[in-house]
Amino acid sequence: MRAVVLRRHGGPESLTLEELPDPRPAAGQALIRVGAVAVNRLDCWVRADVGHAYEARLPLIPGYDVAGEVVEAGAGVEAVQPGARVYVHYDYSCGRCRHCLVGDESLCADYGLMGVDHDGGYAELVLAPERNLFVLDDGVGFEAAAAAGSVYLTAYHMVFAKARLRAGETVLAVAAGSGVGGAAAQLARWAGARVIVSAGTAAKAARARELGAEHTVLHSRPGWGAEVLALTDGRGVDCAIDHVGQATFAEVVRALAGGGRLVICGASSGAQAGLDLIDLFARQLAIIGSSDGSRAELLEVLRLLGAGVIKPVIDDVLPLAQAAEAQARLEQREHFGRILLDPRS
Ligand SMILES: [Zn+2]
Repeated sequence: MRAVVLRRHGGPESLTLEELPDPRPAAGQALIRVGAVAVNRLDCWVRADVGHAYEARLPLIPGYDVAGEVVEAGAGVEAVQPGARVYVHYDYSCGRCRHCLVGDESLCADYGLMGVDHDGGYAELVLAPERNLFVLDDGVGFEAAAAAGSVYLTAYHMVFAKARLRAGETVLAVAAGSGVGGAAAQLARWAGARVIVSAGTAAKAARARELGAEHTVLHSRPGWGAEVLALTDGRGVDCAIDHVGQATFAEVVRALAGGGRLVICGASSGAQAGLDLIDLFARQLAIIGSSDGSRAELLEVLRLLGAGVIKPVIDDVLPLAQAAEAQARLEQREHFGRILLDPRS
């Protein structure tokens, strides 16, 4: 098979297209022909070894947001047969510990990720355990499923499990042009919230309005948190969903209403931020870390995708040979929506 391989950490040029032997499924595994794989920020972090935060096992085939068709089922696999169209969950938790049993798989002591410590989907073929295969509705294409997968699961967990959003509340979704920001905005609107989105450029703000955002603000403008306050008559937002981190943190905190909840799932602009602890307790703010989501939430995300509630925005689909270019574009932040690779091209 053709696969993109990371043999040493570095820039996008570290990703090389190679010809490898086809993998064969062991007992309990299936072999999937990849129809589409999304390019994620985490792929770039793994490649560059940012902060040594992810102990990638090199050499590695990156990529963890995969949809495709089962081509071979290993011994004992009963849930799927060859021909099944699936989203391939990236989670390698144990499935038995107290965290896994309540849907907090990312807290599992044995937690692992496809595309980090297991070979991923920047390839024509990928292996996955049977319990990671989620059959797609007939109307859901591979590109839509790969584009939705991890970002909608992450956003769903943030909006509903962590922020506990209720209808009628006001939400600030930071960076609407990114996967998680756009997904959080869509889910919050579906849940009956009033949604304010931020964008890094005027062009991205215009795209967000085309997609139905009621209010947009530019988070590249100094003091933009005050604009969010003005949009809420000075009250602030009940929930904020952020993954930009360092560059947006102070203004997002400023934009929170008393008792507001800020849920953070990333730090794409940097990891350090200052916090006034008197402000924190005086306004009774909650700042909540979030990572990943549960299998039950993934089922719900795929159901909403099939029902047409979730409409992932796809910026571009590139051939496997352009994986390095795809990651470079993601890092330059010029995209709006998801960048995908199609290993069939
Ligand atoms: Zn576990």
